[in-house]
Amino acid sequence: MYLKQIEQLVVLQKVDDEIVLLQDELKRAPEQIIELEKRRQDIEDSAELVRDKLKYLTDQQKRLDGEIETDSVRLKKSKSKMMMVGNQKEYHAMMREMDNLEKQNRGREEEKTTVAEELSRQNQELADIDGQAKELDSELVVARESLDARIQQAQARLDELGLRRNEAGQAVPRPILQRYEFIRSRLKNPVIVPVHAGICSGCHIAIPPQSFIELQKGIQILSCPNCQRLIYWSEHIEPEVKPEDEAAENAAE
Ligand SMILES: [Zn+2]
Repeated sequence: MYLKQIEQLVVLQKVDDEIVLLQDELKRAPEQIIELEKRRQDIEDSAELVRDKLKYLTDQQKRLDGEIETDSVRLKKSKSKMMMVGNQKEYHAMMREMDNLEKQNRGREEEKTTVAEELSRQNQELADIDGQAKELDSELVVARESLDARIQQAQARLDELGLRRNEAGQAVPRPILQRYEFIRSRLKNPVIVPVHAGICSGCHIAIPPQSFIELQKGIQILSCPNCQRLIYWSEHIEPEVKPEDEAAENAAE
């Protein structure tokens, strides 16, 4: 009777260990997605910056074209007026003005070349960024799908564990189960721990010799006087089975 109860409490503990792990995994699962989304936002921000630059450069290009056009028209007009100038002074003044207009337009043509080069650089930059964005988008699709799968898997396992927890709980008397739940709500996992050679493996402190003798008798479920965890003598329960062994065992059943 006592051994059966201890055994079921240990089963309960194992189930709860796995539940804690799964819940932790579920909590951490979306972190990868959040990280990818953050990177995606960073890429979007730099694309926005490049688009601003492109807009500025295109405006520059338009302005230069407009100015070149205006001065070319003025230059043509001056050329046709040259025929009609009356005196030398006027003629020289017009020559100077035309020289100036030509010089300015040459300067603008050079500026246009620089702007065109920068435009092509920034367009390439934007194409690179768009490529990165596409790559990250497909990475995100895959990550979201696998997250969904992981959540479903973990949830299914949690449901299974919930059932096993109920089964194990039924074999344990109510007051002891309540004590178990009480300790679980107050202390860090585990709730029930073996005592090896008189040492509680929950807090690593020796229990009083009298308690150890009581424990070895295996009549009553005891608590560690130091950490309050439920205790059992390690010799009473077989050493813990590894998960893969347990899986093999379940398959054989
Ligand atoms: Zn203890």
